[in-house]
Amino acid sequence: MNKPILTIVVPCYNEEEVLPETAKELTNVLENLLEDELIALGSKIMFVDDGSSDRTWELIEQESKRNPFVTGIKLSRNFGHQKALLAGLETAKQDSDCVISIDADLQDDISVIREFVIKYQEGYDIVYGVRRSRDTDTWFKRATAQWFYRFMQKLGVQLVYNHADFRLMSKRALEELSRYTEVNIFLRGMVPMLGFRSTQVFYDRKKRFAGESKYPLKKMLAFAFDGITSFSIAPIRWITFIGFLSFLLSSAAGIYALIVKLLGHAELGWTSLMISVWFIGGLLLIGIGLIGEYIGKIYQEVKRRPRFTIEKVLRSPSVSTLPKK
Ligand code: UDP
Ligand code: MG
Repeated sequence: MNKPILTIVVPCYNEEEVLPETAKELTNVLENLLEDELIALGSKIMFVDDGSSDRTWELIEQESKRNPFVTGIKLSRNFGHQKALLAGLETAKQDSDCVISIDADLQDDISVIREFVIKYQEGYDIVYGVRRSRDTDTWFKRATAQWFYRFMQKLGVQLVYNHADFRLMSKRALEELSRYTEVNIFLRGMVPMLGFRSTQVFYDRKKRFAGESKYPLKKMLAFAFDGITSFSIAPIRWITFIGFLSFLLSSAAGIYALIVKLLGHAELGWTSLMISVWFIGGLLLIGIGLIGEYIGKIYQEVKRRPRFTIEKVLRSPSVSTLPKK
């Protein structure tokens, strides 16, 4: 059986509270996999410091000094979860056969990492971690997530239901991902587009064990909006359609008003006039805003700015023997 060199990529933004524990638990996982000869020496954990303002990077450096499995890269500022993840994937793929991405808060069940690796050895290029239920989420997050998936499905964007960014990707899948050079990245939508043999592994998601969610409502909405407009132009079509519909309706109403007037009946009131003015005005503004959103996206893409900047890379750990427990 082929034993892959595995890298676990962990994006971290102000995660000083969880980092030591995360390093410990992931090290445990790697040690067990090594002992069971499921992965090769050289497997490691790569923390990506996404421009944290707390002691995250210091902790990563400290950890890497005493733990041969730990390495890290530091981004020059906060780029956001998706880009931090991409920076990690791009760096890790250079010396790994497969890469697993996972959040720093260990909400995802690390015991399924073993299953990920087994699936890889069975020949799958992409293994999606899928949440069995959403019990640990608030009602609000559950509901909005569900709407989001439904909406994306309607738009024809292929997403893996209840899969966040906990997944394994093979080197060749990552090489392929590198060819997607867009600046607005939404990995959950991009990875299924790669094709290759893929499968799902189910797990239960826990509560964040320390620290706060780095995804407040505002970021979540922005993320969802990016996801939608980066993958589909259907919303623009809908606006055109609604505009057309309202044009027809208002024309009919106009003809009706004209007939009433010609027949000499009382004039139609100010109310209907105002309503239609506001109605059309609103539609126009939505339409312009939406088109603006796409033009803004095009603007960002044509600039071809780097998607992330790596400031520092810790030396890759040299794990030539099994570390003593
Ligand atoms: N994260 C990041 N950059 C950011 C925001 C978040 O690298 O700007 C990381 C964060 O450290 C965590 C992961 O992305 O490892 C997911 O964030 P979080 O757990 O706060 O999100 P939630 O689970 O609440 O959706
Ligand atoms: Mg989390």
